[in-house]
Amino acid sequence: MDFKANMTEIQSRSLKALAQTGRSLSDITMIAVSKTVPIQDVQLAVDAGITHLGENRVQELTSKFDDIKGKVQWHFIGTLQRNKVKYILDKVAFIHSLDNIRLAGEIHRQAKLAGILIKVFIQINVGREDSKSGISPEELPAFLEAMKSFENVKICGLMAIPPFHPDLEAVRPYFKEMKQLFDAAKSLALPHIQMDYLSMGMTYDYEIALQEGANIIRIGTGIFGSRKKEE
Ligand SMILES: *Cc1c(COP(=O)(O)O)cnc(C)c1O
Repeated sequence: MDFKANMTEIQSRSLKALAQTGRSLSDITMIAVSKTVPIQDVQLAVDAGITHLGENRVQELTSKFDDIKGKVQWHFIGTLQRNKVKYILDKVAFIHSLDNIRLAGEIHRQAKLAGILIKVFIQINVGREDSKSGISPEELPAFLEAMKSFENVKICGLMAIPPFHPDLEAVRPYFKEMKQLFDAAKSLALPHIQMDYLSMGMTYDYEIALQEGANIIRIGTGIFGSRKKEE
């Protein structure tokens, strides 16, 4: 697998998508989603210049965390059970999948014990799909308000996985809605919230996500090739 070539292609396509928005590559972060990818390949990607890795399983993240050599920031992007928070808290830079208050409470409790501040994204189920995690867009204002009791949890942005659609243009309205939610949350100017990041866009739709305002994209197959077993 030629990771360098894959990364170069994603960068040049990102640059094109960003051109229309007046932003450049330095304004965005690409997370390489390494779930199910063998450790040797992940190490090659890190050696080729990847600095952000995303995993969606606690056990896979912790074992790769121990093995990967290099300066990497880890992102937890999957469903997180409360009883597993303690295993990743000292390893991840960001948790992208906060979608319930009890989980926030546990992250806060563990972060406080460790004396750290943990950065989290609120996951939004923007397509209102039964199969997906995330709070509904309507719940966001109350959710943000409730977060103020958890001072060791820093809300740093929103994350979404919009519905899949073979016609990419059909996905665009979901990204637009996310950008509106993001701007609205930002304008609330709540002291415990710092809305810096909008995490949306995967291999098949990242260009549209970037056009609509994403500043973090999460790319798996576009870097590592197709996964053996789809998640
Ligand atoms: C797997 C995954 C991705 C990457 O998907 P690709 O289509 O392989 O780019 C991004 N975000 C989340 C939350 C994922 O689980």
